[in-house]
Amino acid sequence: MGTLARSGSLALFTESVMCLLSSPTAHGAMVDLVSLMGQTFPQAAPSLYVTAGGSKTQVYSVLDREQGGAEDARRVLNGRSCSYTAVSVGGRPPLIGRRMDLPITASSKAGVTLSINSGIHDGIFREWVKILTPAVAKLMDHEALLHMAYRDALTGLLNYRALEEMLKVEHDRAARYGTSFSLMMADIDHFKKINDTYGHQIGDVVLKSLAQRLAGCVRKSDRVFRYGGEEFSILLPHTGLAKAGKLAGRIRFEVEQTDFIAGLKITVSIGISEHRDGLTPTGLVEQADRGLYLAKERGRNRVEAMGGLV
Ligand code: GH3
Ligand code: MG
Ligand code: MG
Repeated sequence: MGTLARSGSLALFTESVMCLLSSPTAHGAMVDLVSLMGQTFPQAAPSLYVTAGGSKTQVYSVLDREQGGAEDARRVLNGRSCSYTAVSVGGRPPLIGRRMDLPITASSKAGVTLSINSGIHDGIFREWVKILTPAVAKLMDHEALLHMAYRDALTGLLNYRALEEMLKVEHDRAARYGTSFSLMMADIDHFKKINDTYGHQIGDVVLKSLAQRLAGCVRKSDRVFRYGGEEFSILLPHTGLAKAGKLAGRIRFEVEQTDFIAGLKITVSIGISEHRDGLTPTGLVEQADRGLYLAKERGRNRVEAMGGLV
């Protein structure tokens, strides 16, 4: 190994440990790690493949998606779908070469693999993996614990506990900066009948499929929760009642149009509420709940808000 590569690798090892220790989230740590590796050894064109808690694999890569990134993801994941985060290292993006995969951790809870262009810096990256493995494993364990505490096991959505905490955060932000936000509560109509007719297992499939659809309907900054049972809520930062009402209308329509399992249709009733001064997070949930109650009372498959929609 040349002197330059040696000093580069030493800096990379220490900086990598630092960023694993200081990043508040696993996502942030992975972005920082790939960026560090890509800046220090651009020809290696590093990508990290991270799978946690049984969810979709997250890819963090300095490769452009169109210039080899997507091809590499297909190769590593055998065609399974993933979320792709392109990490820019400035200048011209590196090109893909013959790839080498280095597993970092693989437990029942999480797997992390590093993929690089092989041939030039293989030894450095083998060393990197050896040194970083304990810290990455610890980070992933922590992430798995968080996942269990704040995610619903059936649908993978955020759970009621996460809603409580995020409502508090949004409430404080609104109080401090005078911003607005809204909450949506959606409840499947006559879901008991689905269970009674098709069985509880099919009921579960419908819940999972609706959860995916809801997550697909909203913006990146919005958050979808399983409130409990067949009830879901969506937190909409920087969104007033009018916009929340429009989105709720679109969701209501899309659910109505969807064949959940061949021939099986469902509808949802939705209540919405908007934050205003003096309304506590609990008050906001109650308001949305009352809207939901109105929607049920007025015939179901509707959107309502206390005090009317705007
Ligand atoms: P409404 O239109 O008034 O909301 O009628 P509904 O039948 O949807 O409401 P109800 O509260 O009477 O019943 C809710 C049903 O949701 C009953 C319960 O068995 C079912 N449910 C709750 N959680 C789950 C779950 O995790 N899996 C399945 N399959 N069903 C669930
Ligand atoms: Mg219901
Ligand atoms: Mg219900």
